[in-house]
Amino acid sequence: MQLKRRDFMKVTGAGIACLSLSHLGFDLRPVQAYAAQLKFEGAKEVISVCPFCAVGCHIIAHVKDGQLVNTEGDPDYPINQGALCAKGAAMLSLTRNPHRVVKPLYRAPNSDKWEEKDWDWMLERIATRVKDSRDQNLKTTNDKGQRVNRLDQVFTLGTSHMDNEECALVHQAMRALGVVHMDHQARI
Ligand code: SF4
Repeated sequence: MQLKRRDFMKVTGAGIACLSLSHLGFDLRPVQAYAAQLKFEGAKEVISVCPFCAVGCHIIAHVKDGQLVNTEGDPDYPINQGALCAKGAAMLSLTRNPHRVVKPLYRAPNSDKWEEKDWDWMLERIATRVKDSRDQNLKTTNDKGQRVNRLDQVFTLGTSHMDNEECALVHQAMRALGVVHMDHQARI
């Protein structure tokens, strides 16, 4: 039988832990019984790819009853060999973080309160503000009369939870508006 790297790590990791604890006189049976009920027991294992950067690390996703219940690095994939950076390691929080904001929140100028708004209201508001700013501030030519179509008054900041394709889309949209000031919190 060919033992894959992942299986080898599971077997040796569990074996070493059991060996050392049992040698110290611990009864491991209750722990083993509990471990058998772990959240991803019986879950379907799906190989996926981290979307956050061009390294393309493989991730093992455990899916149970249609829900993602665990994610971890794939030790069989030669690029990341089971390792994930902080972003990839936090993959589960994309879908399962109870603190995740799931409704648009708006804070009016000079207010100290966030108000819940619906998406239509929020998108209309953003579009209006961006258009007003562009209409007032777009610089079409520079001091030499050369066309620049530059909008200095709008800045965009990407989030680390945007994937490669979302980043490309936002970048293209901002360039089309003339925005030149952009940054992205995606350092690894
Ligand atoms: S963001 Fe991190 S885990 Fe994801 S592909 Fe890049 S290096 Fe790998």
